[in-house]
Amino acid sequence: MQIHAYAAPSKSAPLTPYTYDVGEIGSHEVEIDITHCGICHSDLHLLNNDWGISSYPFVPGHEVIGTVASAGGAVRNVTIGARVGIGWQAGSCKECEWCEGKFENICSTAQPTCVGRPGGFANKIRVDSRFAFSVPDGLDSAEAAPLMCAGATMFTPLRDHDVTKGSRVGIVGLGGLGHIGVQFAHAMGALVTVFSSSPAKEKEARAFGANEFVNMRNSVDFDAAAGSQDLILSTASADLPWIGLMNALRPKGTLVLLGVPEGEFHVPVFPIIAAFKNVAGSNTGGTARIAEMLEFSAKHKIRPKIEKYPMPKVNDALERLGRGEVRYRVVLEA
Ligand code: NAP
Ligand code: ZN
Repeated sequence: MQIHAYAAPSKSAPLTPYTYDVGEIGSHEVEIDITHCGICHSDLHLLNNDWGISSYPFVPGHEVIGTVASAGGAVRNVTIGARVGIGWQAGSCKECEWCEGKFENICSTAQPTCVGRPGGFANKIRVDSRFAFSVPDGLDSAEAAPLMCAGATMFTPLRDHDVTKGSRVGIVGLGGLGHIGVQFAHAMGALVTVFSSSPAKEKEARAFGANEFVNMRNSVDFDAAAGSQDLILSTASADLPWIGLMNALRPKGTLVLLGVPEGEFHVPVFPIIAAFKNVAGSNTGGTARIAEMLEFSAKHKIRPKIEKYPMPKVNDALERLGRGEVRYRVVLEA
């Protein structure tokens, strides 16, 4: 069987049509007819080999929605014809303590959907069925695509850090991840502050549920936010004013690193010690969290704001993402 995809033949090259063969379906695998695939900034990092882990031809795509076209004999969690979503992860060992606890995203053999294997900019994809999630009826397929990576990535730290009514949550960067994070935190009852480098986004930030908007390029604004946040989720793909963000935490507050800027993270040690502050990381979500996130999204009517592109126009969409123009996620239609 052949799968028709779009691949970059080499680092940073435009994507071109690319066909590859797949053999017999594995007993635990499902094959999905793709209808939609979001474009995450991680796809762009991988295209440019920013993390040194890319191989070419590179087929990006890890925010997939589609229907189950076929399933191996041991698959129990989904049926043929079901609407499913696939995110960053397509496999893991199934045996370690993390897999057993449904934290498969921490498994040392976690297999990303589009690293070392072809992703979702294609008409079909095959994955381990544990990573194909039923999409609740209330969600539109195109709008559900960004939930599969961006949604999982924002929902996980909000839950892991016990955000609840009245929690003070800062979201840094109003992009694909950030605009969904604002909606989740607002729906959990948090008081949400957006920290942005784009003052023109203030109106939309408030429409997504933000109570406050801090222009990080305005030092008076930024200084006024000192000591205000219990939890700050940093989604920006660029280097940030880390010291100012650490200052924006309340005592015992936590800065969670989600976005992947180049370079290193430097902050002074003493203020962290003095005010019992924390710095944490988080990557996507385990299977239990992703299933919970999809149910939460349907219940609270979380709606990613998307721009739709036909899949053959993928290069236009990638350029727009690279220029920081997307509001707020591109979704490719197959
Ligand atoms: P995106 O849609 O491009 O949004 C990134 C946002 O970062 C922008 O909208 C912008 O927000 C802010 N930003 C960009 N350049 C900036 C600059 N020079 N200074 C300050 N802020 C800047 O990207 P995304 O898809 O949300 O992904 C964001 C990052 O998260 C990427 O690095 C991606 O690889 C990473 N990621 C991590 C995980 C994980 O599991 N940890 C999962 C998915 C993605 P403002 O205009 O509001 O400043
Ligand atoms: Zn992603």
